[in-house]
Amino acid sequence: MSIFSKIAAGEIPSYCCAADDEFYAFLDINPMAKGHTLVIPRREVDYIFDLEDDELARLHVFAARVARAIKKVIPCVKVGEAVLGLEVPHAHIHLIPMQSERDMLFSNPKLQLPAEEMQAVADAIRANFQG
Ligand code: 5GP
Repeated sequence: MSIFSKIAAGEIPSYCCAADDEFYAFLDINPMAKGHTLVIPRREVDYIFDLEDDELARLHVFAARVARAIKKVIPCVKVGEAVLGLEVPHAHIHLIPMQSERDMLFSNPKLQLPAEEMQAVADAIRANFQG
């Protein structure tokens, strides 16, 4: 079971931003920006482009709903989307609030936010999520 499967199953704690039967969204533990969120299918597939077409489409629709909620909570120009998957072998989409192009550079130093702030951001995203 991947670490993200354990997170989606509630076996490892996470700051949950949105969830349904098929997908799960939670704050990245080493965020590039406040509100940096990961969106995963509960089904464990390593490479995102190995997902079935309709599952990939539904994942993106779910991610769009999460991105709209993030945009309401975190002041930003746009929410950027990125897919890397070089560290965790479980397909996921990064949603990152952007002030400028530089905010999407994964080589940037990561933020360390207090647990209370992470919890408050996740709670606000969840409250604004329209499933
Ligand atoms: P990638 O696989 O896309 O290259 O990077 C994986 C991302 O997942 C990184 O941004 C990393 O900070 C995040 N990550 C790795 N392990 C955990 C974890 O246990 N919990 C959370 N919330 N994020 C994680």
